[in-house]
Amino acid sequence: MFENLSERLSGVFDRLTKQGSLSEEDVKTALREVRVALLEADVSLPVARDFIKTVESRATGQAVTKSVTPGQQVVKIVHDALVETLRGEGDPGALKIDNPPAPILMVGLQGSGKTTTTAKLAKRLKDREGKRVLMASLDTNRPAAMEQLAILGKQIGVDTLPIVKGEDPVQIAKRAKTQAALGGYDVYMLDTAGRLHIDAELIAQAAAVRDVANPRETLLVVDGLTGQDAVNVATEFDDKIGVTGVVLTRMDGDGRGGAALSMRAITGKPIRFVGLGEKMDALETFEPDRIAGRILG
Ligand code: GDP
Repeated sequence: MFENLSERLSGVFDRLTKQGSLSEEDVKTALREVRVALLEADVSLPVARDFIKTVESRATGQAVTKSVTPGQQVVKIVHDALVETLRGEGDPGALKIDNPPAPILMVGLQGSGKTTTTAKLAKRLKDREGKRVLMASLDTNRPAAMEQLAILGKQIGVDTLPIVKGEDPVQIAKRAKTQAALGGYDVYMLDTAGRLHIDAELIAQAAAVRDVANPRETLLVVDGLTGQDAVNVATEFDDKIGVTGVVLTRMDGDGRGGAALSMRAITGKPIRFVGLGEKMDALETFEPDRIAGRILG
């Protein structure tokens, strides 16, 4: 569907004068193509613009190595700059879950993949780190969502907090906390209610739960295919609730992952995991290198 950036750039450089180093004009011309590639990958315009500026100053005047074409060289400079922007501090997969029972708060809009991701992450913690995990659904508006988490729990062999009708989310969070302590769990995960849009009630509820649980990690789950919307959602949740990391779902889809770059550049929050399918093991630690490659096509 997309023309490869390296191919596009070789075309551009074929038309330019051959020199020993990348001239300002070469770089400018090449970066026009890069900008188009970024926008096609759904990177937001201001982020693309800033990014191009950084790369421009870095690339201009660089000596062209014999072993690569100028086009390949620009692609490498762009790739490295993308990885730098995308990379957060430390290991994205290392969650702060010492001091058991460690609470993890899962937030996000309805349909983002929050419940699925909660279960995927619980499975990962169990299988890879040998953690005992308790999951609780706080979505009292949607009994089907609570049921869904219980079903997933059975499937992956992770306990879920029994459903008690009539409790509100804060009561459920308190019960999860008590149960996690009494039951000797290492981690308890709170799958908060989602809505189709962010509204005051959703935020107030998530904040009340946060205050009760005092989470070590608050992970925001966003649909990686929603581009700029995903970034707006992240900004809002971070302002109102405070998030410690982002999980981008549906990265197995057709999207080119530009939301990842905008997300990092605008919110500054680290991307911790990516969802790569509906199956319970389709969750991977975020790898900047892979997303950079994908954004460049
Ligand atoms: P929630 O409303 O945010 O809790 O969303 P769900 O966890 O119920 O997920 C909604 C749908 O998206 C389900 O059909 C999931 O199987 C699917 N889903 C979740 N994560 C991914 C992913 O990474 N890739 C794909 N392809 N589908 C996903």
